[in-house]
Amino acid sequence: MSRITSIEISHHQLPLDPPFPASWDPVPRELFPCTIVRVHDDEGRVGIGSGDAMHGFADFARYFVGQDPLDADRHHAILSNIGFHACRPWPLDAALWDLAGKTRGEPVWRMLGGTTDRIRAYASSGVRRTPAQMTGVARAAVERGFTALKLRIGDDTLEENLAAVSAVRDAVGDSLELMVDCNQGWRMPWDTSPPWELATAVKVARRLEAERVYWMEEPLDRGDYDGHTALRQETSIPIAGGEVTREPYEFRELLRRECLDVFQPDCVFTMGISGLQHLAREVAAAGKTFTPHTWGNGIGLMANLQLAAGTSGAPFIEFPFDPPEWTTERRDFMLTRTIEPDDEGWIKLPDGPGLGIELDEDALRRTRSESATYSG
Ligand SMILES: [Mg+2]
Repeated sequence: MSRITSIEISHHQLPLDPPFPASWDPVPRELFPCTIVRVHDDEGRVGIGSGDAMHGFADFARYFVGQDPLDADRHHAILSNIGFHACRPWPLDAALWDLAGKTRGEPVWRMLGGTTDRIRAYASSGVRRTPAQMTGVARAAVERGFTALKLRIGDDTLEENLAAVSAVRDAVGDSLELMVDCNQGWRMPWDTSPPWELATAVKVARRLEAERVYWMEEPLDRGDYDGHTALRQETSIPIAGGEVTREPYEFRELLRRECLDVFQPDCVFTMGISGLQHLAREVAAAGKTFTPHTWGNGIGLMANLQLAAGTSGAPFIEFPFDPPEWTTERRDFMLTRTIEPDDEGWIKLPDGPGLGIELDEDALRRTRSESATYSG
């Protein structure tokens, strides 16, 4: 049996010039932070994870050193406890799955019991744009082979954003499924704007029904269970959410109260692959869709691809893609190879062991930093 010998955490920041004006952040981003977690064993293997910045984790590394890397249930219990006391430690869960796969010589999706090695991507835009600009993005997505695209809408630009949804539908007809993300579920620490009330969400849903939207994402605060239940009764559009909701009992409540049609927890920010593999099956058994959020970097994207392919048979998975501001080169700068869909919008899962990714050590050296923040 092998043993964990150390956990190594490094921070990196990729300068973004021009800055990235993410729709969910009132401050355009000048830096793209990335925290890499490496878990080493005594036979020279290294598991890799990334996602949350792991602030406050250092005190807890001792609970993993000396342990069997394959003791997944034990590690999940400790990570859940740390998730209560300190940070979101789930990048370590991804790293442990990567290490387990390398130890067993199997890809993670197959270890999870998956029977398919491909999954269809939807292009997930990140910037709110004018109708003319958004139409250009949609045409580019069709040309790139995507069959679905997610658009962003928000408070201060709501009418213009809704006009952009209509313009895109007019431009591409039914050649793209269109998802719409309202970004009301949570806020960045420095954003004090209140989330929508039910009345606003219903009004927006009416407008989106007219454009045959595939799902409406995060239309209300994540804890507004009554609002979600009521909204689902008011609209025919499936409602999506839960991308960074933390606790298993919250998801159980969202299921029990019929709040969501589409469950989107991201395994590098919440519950890990170990926890979400069970939730994915519960969601599917309830007749709902499980398809993780993946916005972050290429390692998080790959961890969620492996999870989705291994468990749920999701119709689409999020693929952050919004050039020129958000490219696969920026997103995957820490990897030797960018993750790309084929020309019909499918992503093929790697056959290699673990997560099937390789770090670009030169890029990581160049971007090494003291902290993992979005501005200097
Ligand atoms: Mg979202």
